[in-house]
Amino acid sequence: MTIAVTAEGPDEPRVAISPETAKMLVALGARVRVESGAGSRSRISDETLKAAGAEIATNATDALSGADILLRVRRPSGDEIRALKPGAIVAAILEPYDKAAIEPLAATGASLFSMELVPRISRAQSMDVLSSQANLAGYKAVVDAASHFGQTLPMMMTAAGTVPAAKVFIMGVGVAGLQAIATARRLGAVVSATDVRPATKEQVASLGAKFVAVEDEEFKQAQTAAGYAKAMSVEYQAKQTELVANHIKTQDIVVTTALIPGRPAPRLISRAMVESMKPGSVIVDLAAERGGNCEATAPGQTVDVNGVKIIAPINLAGSVSVNASSLYAKNLFALLELFFDKQEKVLKVNWDDEIIKGTLLAKDGKIVHPNFISQPAA
Ligand code: NAD
Repeated sequence: MTIAVTAEGPDEPRVAISPETAKMLVALGARVRVESGAGSRSRISDETLKAAGAEIATNATDALSGADILLRVRRPSGDEIRALKPGAIVAAILEPYDKAAIEPLAATGASLFSMELVPRISRAQSMDVLSSQANLAGYKAVVDAASHFGQTLPMMMTAAGTVPAAKVFIMGVGVAGLQAIATARRLGAVVSATDVRPATKEQVASLGAKFVAVEDEEFKQAQTAAGYAKAMSVEYQAKQTELVANHIKTQDIVVTTALIPGRPAPRLISRAMVESMKPGSVIVDLAAERGGNCEATAPGQTVDVNGVKIIAPINLAGSVSVNASSLYAKNLFALLELFFDKQEKVLKVNWDDEIIKGTLLAKDGKIVHPNFISQPAA
C-alpha cells in the first residue's frame, strides 16, 4: 500500500503530510513516498520525514508512480492522477464547485475525496479541514490587522494619559469569526460581531463580545440543517446594510468572514461604508477567495481607500503553514484511518460509511456526490 505526497504549486506553502502523520501511516502498514522538498515551506525537511519512516522520492513522477493513494493540499492535475494505480484514491481540497476543473479529474477513474465535504458530525470533527484552517485564518487576520493598524488595541491607563481601546467588528461568526473574536479580545480590543444565524448570538456573548444583528423572523430560520447560513432575502440584506452602515463608521478594525457554501461571498460592506470609516482603520476580508465581503476588496492585494486599508488575503492559513500543514495532515490521517483494516493492515474501504459517502466526490469515472451530480438535460 503506497501513499504518495507531492509538492504543491508556487502559491501553496502547505503540505499534506507531517512527520507525525508519516509515522502513523507507516504504523497502519503503508509505504509513504514524499517528493523531495515537498515540506520545505512548512519547515518539514526530507530528513525529518525520513526519520519518521517515509521514503523520499527525487521528483513527483517517482513519488506518484503506481501509488494507491495521493494526498495533496490543492487539486492535483489529471496527469498526476493518471500516474497513480488505476482507480487510486486522491484526497485534497478539491474545490468541488468548480465543475469545469473537476470533471476531467473525475474522468481519470480515481476515487476523489474532497476534504471540504467532510460531514459536520461529531465522529468527523478530527477530519474537518474547513475548521482547522479557518481557525488559524481567524487568528492571523486579527494579528495582521493589528500590525497594520497604526495604534494600540488595549486600553492603557498611564501617568501620561489614557490610550483608548480599539474597536474591532467581526462579520460572520463561524469558525474563523469565533477565533477572530477570541484573538481580538485577548489583545484587549472592544469587540462586536454579527451573523445571520441565531445560534451565534450566545457564542458571541460567551466570548465577551457584543452581538449586532437584524433579529427578525428570517434571522430565526437562517441556519440550514448542515449548520451553514442560507442566502438572505433582498429585504433582509437592506435592513442588514443599514445596521452595518451605522455601526461600521465607529469601528477601527473590521474582519469579515461571511460565506455561504457554493455561492459567491455575500457583499456586506459597500464602498460608501468604507469611506465613512476613520483614516487609519483596517479591514481584513477573509472571504476574498470567493469574491470578498467588501466592495473595495481586490483579492490577494491590499488597497487604500481614503486612508482605510483593505487587506484581502487569498490563503491566510498558508501564512502560518507550519501549523496549518500539521493540522491539515492530521485531518487527512483521521480520514485515511477509515480506509484501512487495522488488523490485516490493508486498504479496505467501506463505501457505505457515512463519512466516506459524504466526502467522496467522484468514483469509477463519474461524479457520485449527490450535491454535485449534474441534472440530466431536459
Ligand atoms: P462559513 O465559513 O460557511 O461562514 C462563515 C460565517 O458567515 C457563518 O457563521 C455564516 O453564518 C456567516 N454568514 C453567512 N452569510 C452572512 C451574512 N449575510 N451576514 C453575516 N454573516 C453571514 O461557516 P463555518 O465557519 O464553516 O461554520 C458554520 C457552522 O458550522 C458553525 O455553526 C460552526 O460552529 C459549525 N461547525 C460544526 C462542526 C461540526 O459539527 N463538526 C465543525 C465546524 C463548524
